[in-house]
Amino acid sequence: MRDIPDFPEEGVVFKDFTPVLLDRRLRDRIVTDTVDRRRGQVDVVAGIEARGFILGSMVAHALGVGFVPVRKGGKLPAAVHSQSYTLEYGTATLEIHQDAVSHHERVLVVDDVLATGGTLAATCELIERCGASVAAIELVLEIEELGGRGRLGGYDLHCLTSV
Ligand code: AMP
Repeated sequence: MRDIPDFPEEGVVFKDFTPVLLDRRLRDRIVTDTVDRRRGQVDVVAGIEARGFILGSMVAHALGVGFVPVRKGGKLPAAVHSQSYTLEYGTATLEIHQDAVSHHERVLVVDDVLATGGTLAATCELIERCGASVAAIELVLEIEELGGRGRLGGYDLHCLTSV
């Protein structure tokens, strides 16, 4: 992943995931690795806006299961559960359709980067409010110094790489 200093604001080093998408072999390896680890363990994949949509859709397709978008506030058209949280840079709200996942379904959560863990903690909360369970979390990159993993202690969390 490519480092972009001072984006989206001064002091943040943004880990740009777009070169990974362009590299077909690397991208396919990431999907295959994730699918091999989670096959048979999940009923649905949830991807977090926006880069989690891209990766999560590919993983859902390869696993042969459905895909659920976890979106930023105000974007989903039907009835939602909402959860506000703090980011490395600011605050935000995430939402999920209330009927997106069924009771007792096992959900695999997919995103690109783990920073402070707020985004994933909010996503897991939303899934559990729907009555489903978080089977596992899959990420491409963990920024260790931000300590996000500590907020997600109860979950089966796998990061392909870390800085
Ligand atoms: P956090 O809630 O702090 O763990 O932030 C994770 C979410 O914000 C993910 O959806 C990431 O895509 C994005 N994000 C946060 N910090 C960065 C960063 N330094 N580089 C790239 N994406 C980031």
